[in-house]
Amino acid sequence: PVLSTIRHFREEYEQHIKYKKCPASVCQALFRSPCQNACPAEVDVPGYIYLISQKKYDKAVALIRERNPFVAVSGRVCNHPCETKCRRQDTDESLAIRDLKRFAADYLLINNGGYPLPTIKPKNGKKVAVVGSGPAGLTCAYHLARMGYEVTVFEALPVAGGMLAVGIPSYRLPKDILKKEIAEIEKIGVKIKTGIKVGQDVTFDTLFKEGYKAIFVATGAHKDLELGIEGEDMENVMGAVNFLRQANLGKINKVKGRVAVVGGGNAAIDAARTALRLGADEVSIVYRRRREDMPAHPEEIIQAGKEGIRIHFLTNPVRLIGENSKVKKMICVRMELGEFDSSGRRRPLPVEGSEFEMRVDYVIRAIGQNPDLSFITDNLNLQVGRNGTLSVNRDNLFTGINGIFAGGDLVSGPSTVIEAIRDGIKAAISIDRYLGGKGIIEEKIREEEGIDKVKPPQENIEVQPRVKKLNRRSAIDIRTFCEVETGYTEEEARKEACRCLRCDLQLE
Ligand SMILES: Cc1cc2nc3c(=O)[nH]c(=O)nc-3n(C[C@H](O)[C@H](O)[C@H](O)COP(=O)(O)OP(=O)(O)OC[C@H]3O[C@@H](n4cnc5c(N)ncnc54)[C@H](O)[C@@H]3O)c2cc1C
Ligand code: SF4
Ligand code: SF4
Repeated sequence: PVLSTIRHFREEYEQHIKYKKCPASVCQALFRSPCQNACPAEVDVPGYIYLISQKKYDKAVALIRERNPFVAVSGRVCNHPCETKCRRQDTDESLAIRDLKRFAADYLLINNGGYPLPTIKPKNGKKVAVVGSGPAGLTCAYHLARMGYEVTVFEALPVAGGMLAVGIPSYRLPKDILKKEIAEIEKIGVKIKTGIKVGQDVTFDTLFKEGYKAIFVATGAHKDLELGIEGEDMENVMGAVNFLRQANLGKINKVKGRVAVVGGGNAAIDAARTALRLGADEVSIVYRRRREDMPAHPEEIIQAGKEGIRIHFLTNPVRLIGENSKVKKMICVRMELGEFDSSGRRRPLPVEGSEFEMRVDYVIRAIGQNPDLSFITDNLNLQVGRNGTLSVNRDNLFTGINGIFAGGDLVSGPSTVIEAIRDGIKAAISIDRYLGGKGIIEEKIREEEGIDKVKPPQENIEVQPRVKKLNRRSAIDIRTFCEVETGYTEEEARKEACRCLRCDLQLE
């Protein structure tokens, strides 16, 4: 039994022994609070919630930015693993940790004209290059700039932000909010050069010759997977990431007729809702498993349904038929679930004789992405792992080639914004150590604000469900890209903040 627990829970054991971390938030001696422990960026959740309850919104944002520079972004699109571990669930409902973050960020960006500057060490004269301006790259650049490095980010596209700018649609993450948050990163000296594809416009060799002492590569996973069926090379058949990129860059601004999206993740829902907003008459999603198996966020699936998008569950395309090289029909089969596969889910199998056709004008494939490794030139001996991801030492993100580190989706495969931010922090620490520093990210607001010294009043602990947002939009216009989800008002946010049990104090 001992050997089999080691085999099955190897990662858990490693986390405890190597990193003194308890991912399940059970070993209380190993963490300050379960929410902070569950946040990949280790944001001081009870600390910023306390500061919001005290109306100290600037300090709350400054505390979050000691770890995570994307406060307004995370406040909107983070998959919030912290909330699933919130101890308040034992009494009523978890804290609205993500919404509180959004409130504080928006309050400063909209009412105060920006964030307070973080602590920045004097310049140390060393240059670092970052390849890719997604959340991993920009987080690494932000922390290195705070440590005194001169950082330049090279971005292939004409805009900065990675999937935040060209993947996630603006009805979920408004472009002006993203731009403001990126401007806050530039404010501390990070230079972003767009329209430069590393490997093509400039090589790694040239970057080292230009004096960059280390390079962090965070180029994401932008290559859409193919369905592998007949007719896929026809016009109007495209990958979801490609479709969303073109829509976000304004290169596709009209979609006519019937759209079928194949897949069940967030990219599928985003592509479907974007097609609707670009004028499609009818949008359907085709997914080979059941609703409960869909990897997309449940709230997004509900929103898609409300907007009139129909989801065909247990359905899979087998062939595309066109006229004049344009797709016109998608032949599908019904599926049934068989034995469990290696992912722990039941394998979908085609039902014999169940073929039927759907009339379509566009087919969007949203069945996953791989990294594009075309940046690997200069005879770089980088190691490629599973699904075309880059292999690194997971402890320090070192690629094995002197001075080159890598992280984010490029290394993990398609993941989440907050996991990319975690890699950005890890890379900054490793690069600083590699260049002779101590690899320390300065955090002092908790102490300065005396957060440890204040216990929550008894009434905060009484049963009180999560504060609902009352300023909901009365109607959502599915023909515009206006933000769908609203934020807390100041009064609601402060009331919600007062529900926090301050688990950080009980555990210390
Ligand atoms: C449609 C969609 C919706 C999503 N929604 C969510 C969500 O709601 N919540 C969530 O947590 N996650 C979501 N994700 C996942 C999340 O966006 C990614 O996990 C995250 O952005 C990865 O960050 P990254 O920095 O590793 O890479 P990216 O954000 O992909 O950024 C990589 C950047 O590198 C650039 N680049 C590539 N090659 C080069 C080169 N050779 N030279 C220079 N630059 C280069 C790219 O142009 C890009 O800008 C979504 C993903 C998609 C596709
Ligand atoms: S960044 Fe995400 S995981 Fe971390 S505390 Fe905020 S909502 Fe939770
Ligand atoms: S009650 Fe507060 S401190 Fe405790 S887990 Fe929830 S958010 Fe974190």
